[in-house]
Amino acid sequence: MKINSIVVGDLQTNCYLLEKNNEVLIIDPGDEAKKIITAIGDKKVVGCLLTHKHFDHIGALTEICSYYNIKPNDYKGNNFSYEVLETKGHTNDSVTYYFKNEKVMFCGDFIFYHSIGRTDLGGSDSDMLESLDKISLYDDDITLYPGHGPKTILGEEKKRFSLY
Ligand SMILES: [Zn+2]
Repeated sequence: MKINSIVVGDLQTNCYLLEKNNEVLIIDPGDEAKKIITAIGDKKVVGCLLTHKHFDHIGALTEICSYYNIKPNDYKGNNFSYEVLETKGHTNDSVTYYFKNEKVMFCGDFIFYHSIGRTDLGGSDSDMLESLDKISLYDDDITLYPGHGPKTILGEEKKRFSLY
């Protein structure tokens, strides 16, 4: 699986384009639909997933879905396989997509490089702590792809969890 990240919108949201066998799965089409469509080129878009519904993660959703004729927050193929982990805290609809075979997670605004997401925009501190406990059980060598900023390694972030 190839992971292409493009930065979109005023809040510099990471929109991820996952590619496998010439098919593309989009995560968080935050803004700038044209930029996303150009980056996809002539590959086949098979789905679009959302980590949560803050405006900076869904800004181009409607345009992208109508352009590719796909449903929002939906994927039903068999090229990509992942688990959806409920990771509330930043918002109460926050999820993390875990691609076990590739050892990567797309965690939205749950965890950032050396930081975690705010909880004052529709989330809760207690949910955040619960989600950190939950994610602690996963392997240290998993790569995290956050909704903003650079990727990081779960093991590195775990060392900081006691600070939060
Ligand atoms: Zn957010």
